[in-house]
Amino acid sequence: MSSSSIKNVAVLGATGSIGGSTLDVIAQHPERFRANVLTAHRQVEALVELCVRYRPSLAVIGDAALEGELARRLAAAGVPCDVAAGHDAITAAAGSTQCDIVVAAIVGAAGLDSTLAAARSGKRLLLANKESIVMAGPLLLAALNEGGGELIPVDSEHNAIFQCLPGGRPDLGRSGVRRLILTASGGPFRGRTRAELAAITPEQACKHPNWVMGRKISVDSATLMNKGLEVIEAHHLFNTSAEMIDVLVHPQSLVHSLVEYVDGSVLAQLGNPDMRTAIAHALAWPERVTAGVPPLDLATHAALNFEAPDLATFRCLALAFQALRAGGDAPAILNAANEVAVEAFLAGALPFLSIADVVESVLVELTPQAVVDVQSLTERDRAAREAARRILRNAC
Ligand code: NAD
Ligand code: MG
Repeated sequence: MSSSSIKNVAVLGATGSIGGSTLDVIAQHPERFRANVLTAHRQVEALVELCVRYRPSLAVIGDAALEGELARRLAAAGVPCDVAAGHDAITAAAGSTQCDIVVAAIVGAAGLDSTLAAARSGKRLLLANKESIVMAGPLLLAALNEGGGELIPVDSEHNAIFQCLPGGRPDLGRSGVRRLILTASGGPFRGRTRAELAAITPEQACKHPNWVMGRKISVDSATLMNKGLEVIEAHHLFNTSAEMIDVLVHPQSLVHSLVEYVDGSVLAQLGNPDMRTAIAHALAWPERVTAGVPPLDLATHAALNFEAPDLATFRCLALAFQALRAGGDAPAILNAANEVAVEAFLAGALPFLSIADVVESVLVELTPQAVVDVQSLTERDRAAREAARRILRNAC
């Protein structure tokens, strides 16, 4: 492969779990990919370390107050890359011609603007930041259409479905698909009763049995809100109604999701629970490259188990289905309320089971409106956060 075909990759959220896995895959294929743009929120030291290692052309720190420190430290480390800072600089980097591929791996609604910018600019967008599509599905799809870019899902379930669909395209075209089945590990508290969940600590919630992830998604996995967000994500990505999406608990996390066809065929994608597989697939698609993931040895796994999710104990999943059916911006309201509630839980200010209560109260308070544009959506996101904070204050 000639050096001119090397793809420049912007890794947004480079210091995170997905960011690290992405950089690991990129480093395995220097003849194909270069990590050209790296961004982080506040972790200057971690970002500088990555810059020393990966030599990007541009490093961006989200917190504008840290720009000087980043520039100084990079200079001291002898790294000759451009420096920028602030939310808008991350958005600009995502849309710039400096990169061919954007990996959207910022956590939460903070990733929306950069995800939209990447979509609009006609690049390949590797979507890990599920909150942005949950919030703004129709706007993101319109931006992709407008820009002529392509979205390859990185979320392991959606990447699995992408792989099980005809031609690998995220467009069902109603081609004989009966159902999408998203698998869920069930999180660290699978099988527990509500009473047993009352005193759960952030440390317990962040200890996922199969995956090592950032703290926010770890809590979402423990409440099953993560699966709820993924149901909404699948609805948008694959143009599928809520009725055609099922959730199946599969504690081993080896079957990453399934597609059922009208003739009774069910296609599944399997692999070890390591995000580098989905990332490598999405980076190289339609080709295949190594990911550094050990081969799946099914003989060493005694069994694959499947069970229905417990919607009464893990109410967040039911709330997400409810928001999807309510339509409009209800998923954005759900997401905003959840982000505030999870933050409060992680800070030790909200019991685990109350996360669902906060989300439900905000959904009741803010009745759904149509998703029109980013400005009105951002305003609604803000209103939902305010409502959630007020509910939290009143509860304490
Ligand atoms: P993480 O917390 O490990 O990393 C988040 C990254 O985003 C960090 O680099 C951080 O600096 C950056 N960031 C945080 N807030 C920001 C802000 N306000 N502005 C700019 N940058 C900001 O999270 P993660 O586990 O890597 O998850 C990232 C995204 O990928 C999430 O949306 C998550 O749901 C999704 N995802 C993660 C996994 C996984 O295995 N970790 C799997 C599927 C999907
Ligand atoms: Mg997932």
